[in-house]
Amino acid sequence: MASLLAQLESLSQAAARDIAAASDEKALEELRVRFLGKKGELSAVLRGMGALAAEERPKVGEVANRVRDQVESLLDGARERLAGARLEAELAGPPIDVTLAGRRPLPRGHRHPLTRAAEEIAAIFARLGYEVASGPEIELDWYNFEALNIPADHPARDMQDTFYVEEAALGGAHRSGSVLLRTHTSPVQIRAMKRLGKPPVRIICPGRVYRSDYDQTHSPMFHQVEGLCVDEHITFADLKGTLAAFARAYFGPGTRTRFRPSYFPFVEPGAEVDVSCSICGGSGRKDGKRCGTCKETGWLEVLGSGMVHPRVLENGGIDPSRYTGFAFGMGVERMAMLKYGIDDLRLFFENDLRFLRQF
Ligand SMILES: [Zn+2]
Repeated sequence: MASLLAQLESLSQAAARDIAAASDEKALEELRVRFLGKKGELSAVLRGMGALAAEERPKVGEVANRVRDQVESLLDGARERLAGARLEAELAGPPIDVTLAGRRPLPRGHRHPLTRAAEEIAAIFARLGYEVASGPEIELDWYNFEALNIPADHPARDMQDTFYVEEAALGGAHRSGSVLLRTHTSPVQIRAMKRLGKPPVRIICPGRVYRSDYDQTHSPMFHQVEGLCVDEHITFADLKGTLAAFARAYFGPGTRTRFRPSYFPFVEPGAEVDVSCSICGGSGRKDGKRCGTCKETGWLEVLGSGMVHPRVLENGGIDPSRYTGFAFGMGVERMAMLKYGIDDLRLFFENDLRFLRQF
């Protein structure tokens, strides 16, 4: 019995000494296992109790329990001491920067396919020397129609179902019908010519326009990109070369263009521009079947264009006897639909993330 008590005494002293010297929590855990663990020193002493006489066991058991309690409380005390020291060290060290960005990347949004298409179109023309211009969406009748050669009794007005702003809403400041939501981006042509004063004028104008229209291919609000180039010696050849270069840049290097005579009041002559179908490569057939995008024609209508009408130049303050120019306009929705293979224009405005995430 005396030897067991001596062992407990020396275990108690070793534990007190080593625990006091422990420098971190990992070292403390190792000491707990060494002294109190199942295969630890205290267990080894207790296993020796089997050899004792029955009346000696309670005495040794009592001492062993006291030693266990003592070691446990020494460990607790040491853990508190070390945690306190660690906190002190952190407070004394460099401060934690709570504004630092998290390590896990947060899900980020991206540009709407229409924004992407409009920016891509503008970027192509920027490389050709065009600057981006803009104008008001609530426009005067004069800029939207009159200055573009579309007087009040002109049949072309019927083709654009216009949202007029009521006189009452304007506090009687304008004649009824003289203010409207612009039906096209063309009024920016007049505004740009007047602002720049004299050629050269080379502008591209992406923007929202409004018409009273709603179905699978029409929305009451949609987007156009207008372009205008005015200078000395500008000819139809410049128009063709510019739009052919644009078509190749936007739809791909092999893209062909074709010009069909057409009528727009603000140009003379005017032309619709088709590009070879980007889906079937212009063959009209895709995988042995009829190409639905170009309806088997091999061509896609993409924009309207023409040489600026002399009267429109005059309305913009430019002398038509010295300068000539060309203009063109296209629908951004249509350009995006053709590029990304989208068949319903309304998808652009429904904000369904399952649709938008594909771009
Ligand atoms: Zn096709």
